[in-house]
Amino acid sequence: MCLFCKIVNKEIPANIELEDENFLAFHDINPKAPVHILVIPKKHIAGFNEVDAQTMADITPFIQTLVKKLDIKQSGYRLICNIGENGGQEVMHLHWHVLGGAKLKFDHLSDADPKDFL
Ligand code: 5GP
Ligand code: ZN
Repeated sequence: MCLFCKIVNKEIPANIELEDENFLAFHDINPKAPVHILVIPKKHIAGFNEVDAQTMADITPFIQTLVKKLDIKQSGYRLICNIGENGGQEVMHLHWHVLGGAKLKFDHLSDADPKDFL
């Protein structure tokens, strides 16, 4: 069972911010911003390449509710979905990073200088 499935099953503890029947939002263990939440479907989906349209539709109001609860709706935030090796995905269970609470740098979550790509 993957790491995030273990969090869904409460086999590994997590600081849960919001939960419904289909989705879970919990604090990242290694936060890169004052607010850094991971949003996952409770069912195991390896990544964005595998996600169905209904799950994407349903996750939208869940994240919108989450950012209201976190009080970052008006100040702004960033949603990041890392995909595969080049995308920097380390946990193979679909997740969205929700980053906020401060003005974010361009390279949040990246280990490379964007100038390297020019
Ligand atoms: P990825 O690089 O796959 O997009 O992001 C995985 C994220 O999961 C990382 O930001 C990492 O800090 C977080 N993470 C890894 N293991 C755990 C854990 O056991 N608990 C929590 N809450 N976050 C984790
Ligand atoms: Zn999983």
